[in-house]
Amino acid sequence: MPGRQLTLMTVHAHPDDEATSTGGVLAKAAAEGVRTVLVTCTDGSCGDGPGGVKPGDPGHDPAAVVELRRKELEASCEILKVTDLEWLGYTDSGMMGWDTNDAPGSFWRTPIDVAAAKLATLIEKYSPDVIVTYDEYGFYGHPDHIQANRVTMAAIAMTGSDAKVYWTTFARSKMVEFEKALAELGMNMADEVPSDGPEIGLPDDEITTFVDTSAFGAQKFESLAAHGSQGENIFFLQMGVERFTQLMGVEAYVRVKDSTNAPLPEDDLFAGLR
Ligand SMILES: [Zn+2]
Repeated sequence: MPGRQLTLMTVHAHPDDEATSTGGVLAKAAAEGVRTVLVTCTDGSCGDGPGGVKPGDPGHDPAAVVELRRKELEASCEILKVTDLEWLGYTDSGMMGWDTNDAPGSFWRTPIDVAAAKLATLIEKYSPDVIVTYDEYGFYGHPDHIQANRVTMAAIAMTGSDAKVYWTTFARSKMVEFEKALAELGMNMADEVPSDGPEIGLPDDEITTFVDTSAFGAQKFESLAAHGSQGENIFFLQMGVERFTQLMGVEAYVRVKDSTNAPLPEDDLFAGLR
């Protein structure tokens, strides 16, 4: 449809998730003149505080964390040239099993239809052509990521949006290389992801869409670096921008809803829409 500006909406759980999993497609879309909308569902209050103070430890002030992470997310959006940042307004639920799961206002505790109705107003406002969120396991089992999937899918159903819908993933074929890079930094993948859930990522033949965003590797790297207070989430920046781009420059997605009939596999989230 020439003349009509396309819109990409990514729905994420916390400040920093936009960079890790979709930084490449956000930067690429912006460079192509696509309007990019980032919806961040929670305030990130269970993140590290200034100086690396852990949630629940003395000196961890959730209000200060929220303020810091808001600024970091705004900086990240500037780097990725995100057109519109929208906060869904929920409190970070923390990792599975934490008391914060059930705190008032937590995303995890909010009924799906309530949060979905909020997101639905944003889908109606922006009429995205493409919507990206996580898979049903939230990629790695974090309650807010699982909830982001449920809320997004419910909001899409509520609005009857005919956007192409994608879930983020990671190619298992890259995992070995990624683990090697971590090992060189003295880290163990097993320490970084919970081991009691399904295996992370997918085999290549189950991935419908590989988007080469390596030309935007520096932007993705910088956007992640903008979340400087979250040392643990951005540990892999220590590998440097070149290695990072080699490992994270091609982003993997699974197309779960489509009305374009664009042939699979694709190399573009907007295949069939341009
Ligand atoms: Zn997250």
